Amino acid sequence: MTVLQPDYFSAFRCTCTECKDNCCKMGWDIEIDENTLSYYREHGGELCERLCENIYEEDGAHYMSQEGGCPFLTADGLCGVQQELGAEHISDICREHPRFYEWFGDYKEAGLGLCCEEVSRLVLTHERPVLFTEKQIDEEPDDLEFDSEIFAAVKNIREKLIDIAQDRGFTIMQRLALLCYCAEDISEALQEEDCEQLKKISGMLAIDGFRMEIVIQAEKDILSGDVRAMGKDGLDRLFSLFSQMEYMGSLGERFALTEDIRDKMLSAEKAFSENYAAYQHELENILVYFLYRYFIKSTRDYAAEERLFSAVYMTLAARGLFLREYAENGVLPDLDRRILLVKELSKEVEYDSDNMDIIYDEIQQSADTRDMLCGLCFQGDI
Ligand code: SF4
Repeated sequence: MTVLQPDYFSAFRCTCTECKDNCCKMGWDIEIDENTLSYYREHGGELCERLCENIYEEDGAHYMSQEGGCPFLTADGLCGVQQELGAEHISDICREHPRFYEWFGDYKEAGLGLCCEEVSRLVLTHERPVLFTEKQIDEEPDDLEFDSEIFAAVKNIREKLIDIAQDRGFTIMQRLALLCYCAEDISEALQEEDCEQLKKISGMLAIDGFRMEIVIQAEKDILSGDVRAMGKDGLDRLFSLFSQMEYMGSLGERFALTEDIRDKMLSAEKAFSENYAAYQHELENILVYFLYRYFIKSTRDYAAEERLFSAVYMTLAARGLFLREYAENGVLPDLDRRILLVKELSKEVEYDSDNMDIIYDEIQQSADTRDMLCGLCFQGDI
């Protein structure tokens, strides 16, 4: 089996008792895999009985309810199940989190989820472009079906999208706009299962001159009438979309915009861009994370446009949170605060399928997603 992973993957170490937002306290219901469940049922003993009492079934899968946090977390923040039964008898998800995987036959992709503060730190402090490397591992191929030709074409396109996201010849906002301009063509070719066209698009996206042409076109469009107007209310639309979501903590308040805050953010846009210029790699890495993790799924669901635009949405939402704090305080939020905001954004939005569905629905129902997002990208230039 070949596995692809980002270069920071093996640098991850759970900070465990040092963690300020331990994932075992997040209150998520945790899926218990069949092997682990059978062990708890067959092993007996007080702990296994308590575990079984906390497990419920839904749609054929089993979950452990964790309202208020995992009931098996010890007072010193360690896993009581692992202490008593051993690491081999905690559920797969507890053992692997925050790692994630995606399988295509004898090929697997691995990554680290941004909802963990340590991962958020690794991603935001990674100043060089993230590299993805392959290695061989000893694992049986997966048997879930997929079309290998479509997979190769999607993987190839994703390579170019990540390459664009990391093209430091452009500002991060130009790169975001460039990606938005590619979405429709990629989506149409994928819907028609036209692998030749996908290859052609991929070839074009590799050409520097072609990228430059698109950026120039996007800037021209934005500065012209209708799209210019759309860009002006883009901030309202972005924040209004995220404020419709359900939050466990206080992040929702950061997306509630008053007219006063919105005006302050618009006036602070240029100064923020200048002050934040040295940290553009943070947004680059967030964008790359979402493209890497989710775009490949369009091999099976063909939802290329949703995958691409949602990566742009999440990147702009992170930037919007930074911009808001800059506008309110007159200084950039410091690195710890930016790490916290990105971790919260991932935990509350990316890791909540209902919240992600709000973004996907908006992309599907709105005819002007590209122009709205591009308007936001060039807000400072308008
Ligand atoms: S959130 Fe990350 S660092 Fe914190 S306990 Fe969980 S895996 Fe460890």
